Amino acid sequence: MPGLFLAPYSQSGMKKRAQNKNRTQRNELALIDEIRRRAEAGRGSRDLGLGVGDDCALLRPRVGEELAVTTDLSLAGRHFRLDWHRAEVVGHRALARGLSDLAAMGARPVAAFLSLALPRELTQRRGGGTSWADRFFDGFFQLAEKTGTPLAGGDLCEAGTVLADIVLIGAVPAGRALLRSGARPGDGIYVTGGLGGAAVGLSALEAEAARRGGSKPPAIPRRLEAVLAPHLYPQPRLAVGRALARRGLATAAMDLSDGLSTDLARLCRESGVAAEIQSAALPVACEATLDQALNGGEDYELLFTARPTAKMPRRIGGVPITRIGTILKTSNKRPQVTLVGAEGARALDSAGWRHFA
Ligand SMILES: [Mg+2]
Repeated sequence: MPGLFLAPYSQSGMKKRAQNKNRTQRNELALIDEIRRRAEAGRGSRDLGLGVGDDCALLRPRVGEELAVTTDLSLAGRHFRLDWHRAEVVGHRALARGLSDLAAMGARPVAAFLSLALPRELTQRRGGGTSWADRFFDGFFQLAEKTGTPLAGGDLCEAGTVLADIVLIGAVPAGRALLRSGARPGDGIYVTGGLGGAAVGLSALEAEAARRGGSKPPAIPRRLEAVLAPHLYPQPRLAVGRALARRGLATAAMDLSDGLSTDLARLCRESGVAAEIQSAALPVACEATLDQALNGGEDYELLFTARPTAKMPRRIGGVPITRIGTILKTSNKRPQVTLVGAEGARALDSAGWRHFA
């Protein structure tokens, strides 16, 4: 589809609105040109034979690699709120969510394909300023450049709301991809970074909305952005994932998108094992509660397991690695996931975050 950003949006749309040759159309064409211009910057990638501009992109997988493919949908009102989240944040998060899945497999990014539907007014530039769409792509391309992810195609379409559908292609040495199904009894359970930080940010946002007393929540104040950073700008753990895969350190891995309690249960199901974690060992993020660390979603850290004999570094690429528990055999006598705390052991039920439903 890399012919992209041209056919569906500007041509068909412009025929229908032939009488309406005005600033709006120039804005649309300017946006398409701008996306293509910015996408060209990724053409230096040796993985990309051909990017935006033709009927298809051409990818050049290296010898001895497998391709990892993931898709992710970001929908206004469900995964973000147009009245709460700045456009740059929506663009960053749309890409970050997909990149986090590549990180979880130990893959490096090869190409991104983005289809974006949005209301006409969000493409309009007023008074020489930038449009919502311009700022969406600011956030998108900033992370794309930082992570070496070329935008190789996509589509643009007018719609009643904002929907960003992303496809990410990654590459991983053949046979080395990190799967959810490889955990075995005795393996250590590890996480990267801190847990619950995104939930702290979200609750700060909710508190700010409540403080203002309006039914319509405010746009995010800049003074809150530090505490909100894990929520607004999650950093996919690509370097950690690649290092784990390359060094053969992990037996199983996934990213934490829905909360540890939910995601660890998923990993256990895929591996046919149980797990026990220590609440005192959890790397609870600054200002987060235990409940937020266990159940707060969207941290986009990695959860992984490793052989009992593995020499696990304390940090990989500057990111702290923390052992939080041990994989056990499944048994009728114990829950799938057990949390051991000061008051003893209890079953940890899946209680992950449910977005803005
Ligand atoms: Mg995932």
